Amino acid sequence: MVGGGPVGLFAATLLRLHGFSVRLVESLPVLGGQAAVLYPDKAVYDVAGFPEVSGRDLAEALVRQASGYAPEVVLGAEAVAIEGDPRSGFAVATAAGTFRGRVVLLTIGIGAFTPRRLAAEGAAELEGRRIHYLLPPADAVRGRRVVVVGGGDTAVDWVLALAPLAREVVLVHRRTAFRAQGEMLRRAKALGPVRVVTPYEVRRIAERPDGALAVTLEGRQGAEPLEVAADVVVGGLGYQADPGPARHWDVGVEGAVIPVDPATMETRRTGIYAAGDVAAYPGKVRLLATGFGEVGIAAAAIRRRLRPETSAHLPHSTSVRGRPAPVDA
Ligand SMILES: Cc1cc2nc3c(=O)[nH]c(=O)nc-3n(C[C@H](O)[C@H](O)[C@H](O)COP(=O)(O)OP(=O)(O)OC[C@H]3O[C@@H](n4cnc5c(N)ncnc54)[C@H](O)[C@@H]3O)c2cc1C
Repeated sequence: MVGGGPVGLFAATLLRLHGFSVRLVESLPVLGGQAAVLYPDKAVYDVAGFPEVSGRDLAEALVRQASGYAPEVVLGAEAVAIEGDPRSGFAVATAAGTFRGRVVLLTIGIGAFTPRRLAAEGAAELEGRRIHYLLPPADAVRGRRVVVVGGGDTAVDWVLALAPLAREVVLVHRRTAFRAQGEMLRRAKALGPVRVVTPYEVRRIAERPDGALAVTLEGRQGAEPLEVAADVVVGGLGYQADPGPARHWDVGVEGAVIPVDPATMETRRTGIYAAGDVAAYPGKVRLLATGFGEVGIAAAAIRRRLRPETSAHLPHSTSVRGRPAPVDA
């Protein structure tokens, strides 16, 4: 399986529940896809069974559910090539090795996320060490001064997440108007350690001899230049999504999506299935609920392909849970 977002995680659960062995490769160092990375603190109200759940809590619940069935998960493993066919099996080549399987399920969502990086002088050299493009771990920000750059939901989500931990959070945006939801911005501004600085652009980031970062801000619309002292800078400028290598997998990528047969979720390449945001067919709705449903259709079709002797329908979970798993790679 390729892609450890919400839909991939649920697919890992369902396929393991039905006795298939699963290897799930994910390009990011974290599981949970868009929910975990793009809107961890935003409330979602349309996932069945959850009256309200944050992206982070939903991702964690999906990870917990999948972990109960112990799929093999490899993080930091962008799938770059898929060789083979259903008869000989497929080989999925990733940055972290090659993984084999009798079928492949693509749950790559909006593709591999590439963060939009800060164009500031000095930013590239400090990336990973003092400048982050994912929400840094709590230990890296506890009691520290953090500059968050951006004006969308991602940046403001991160300010809300960092404020309870950090000594100070400075939100820098190049416009006075924010794209982020007004309510989130109001909540962020109301938090004690949060300072909002607009309209400013980060021009330069340098390490000072005392170890702090000097963040030089260039004023727009006539605002005076500013220098802010920080320990950590977080770029919350969003992500570029690109199906990237999937274009070379002969699955018929159209724009950023892969057409499938909605009766099976199989792509035009036999034995390779797709579900979730990346899968396209007439009437497709890009929602979590739709993706989870597609996983059920794909799992049933995969079962028919790998175990043609079994019934055409997926049995209910209670009747299969706990049964010894026949080995199907
Ligand atoms: C701001 C925002 C708010 C949203 N709010 C809602 C909402 O309220 N309700 C709702 O139903 N939906 C909402 N959505 C949509 C929902 O998040 C998506 O429908 C859902 O994330 C799709 O899940 P997925 O697993 O298909 O894809 P993704 O979440 O995109 O996950 C795909 C995963 O695959 C990985 N990947 C991609 N390419 C590769 C590769 N080559 N190799 C390895 N790994 C790869 C990615 O890194 C990613 O982790 C929202 C989306 C956004 C951006």
